[in-house]
Amino acid sequence: MSGTPPELQDVVAEIAEAMRRRPDRGEVATYIPELARADPEAFGLAVIDAEGRVAAAGDCDTPFSIQSISKVFTLTLALGMVGDRLWRRVGREPSGSPFNSIVQLERECGIPRNPFINAGAIAVTDVILSGHQPREALGDILRFLQFLAQDPAIAIDESVAASEQRTGFRNSALAHYMKSFGVLDNPVEYTLGVYFHHCAIAMSCRQLAGAGRFLAHSGRNPATGLQVISAERARRINAVMLTCGHYDGSGEFAYRVGLPGKSGVGGGILAIAPGKASIAVWSPGLDAAGNSHLGRIALEMLTKRLGWSIFGA
Ligand code: GLN
Repeated sequence: MSGTPPELQDVVAEIAEAMRRRPDRGEVATYIPELARADPEAFGLAVIDAEGRVAAAGDCDTPFSIQSISKVFTLTLALGMVGDRLWRRVGREPSGSPFNSIVQLERECGIPRNPFINAGAIAVTDVILSGHQPREALGDILRFLQFLAQDPAIAIDESVAASEQRTGFRNSALAHYMKSFGVLDNPVEYTLGVYFHHCAIAMSCRQLAGAGRFLAHSGRNPATGLQVISAERARRINAVMLTCGHYDGSGEFAYRVGLPGKSGVGGGILAIAPGKASIAVWSPGLDAAGNSHLGRIALEMLTKRLGWSIFGA
């Protein structure tokens, strides 16, 4: 056995119970009207270890809007398509700014700081779209997630996509601003359409933890035995998740949890314990930086209990 404590299910159940009792739940995102309908009391947690054992608790099978967590998978796909040339379009430094900030683009010729802020993810989506129809590009992203999670039932929540499309003025501004610098190749409305739809993919904690397994195991998904990406690329994606995965809350997440992680405004977080486990947590209430409030606290408890921080026990 590779170091996974047998009591993993007990630890996960205990954490879910502790989270259920907490009165502080953060604020559900409201700027995408459809997300405001999420239940602030919901909480789910799923951990899949190296052997494929699943420890799960709470609302671990309820699909939620993965939002920016989709950016991990679009980054993986875009790197697969164009390799390291991607880094000419997008940087890999923490931004120190909110996820939807525009100021940095002006200073840096329209090149977004990293692939996980909105501007960076829109630039990555544009790369995936090139040479395809929007429908095909979106199909590729969705099928990639279904394949990684080994679950063809994963789908796009069309009402969330439509809600964001109607109200996504800030993202539209980011995209047009980048377009003015020549950073986007495709018609802005096509790129945004694909971006809004991949953010609106709905997954449960169990499905998401399954989809992240390749990042915990040197690029190989133990569920299929297939090498999804090289070990080097997996290591590097994890590095970007650690430094940029929680926007201007990334330092705090590294300090408290100590794992590469990616959050979304739907309240989900995917966290990777390299060599050990893929972890997904969901609680819709957010903190001031737009990251799941209880999700982060639950992950902090988990890594502390199990000694899973990459910085030492
Ligand atoms: N779709 C959301 C947006 O573009 C994603 C943001 C997030 O999850 N942080 O605003």
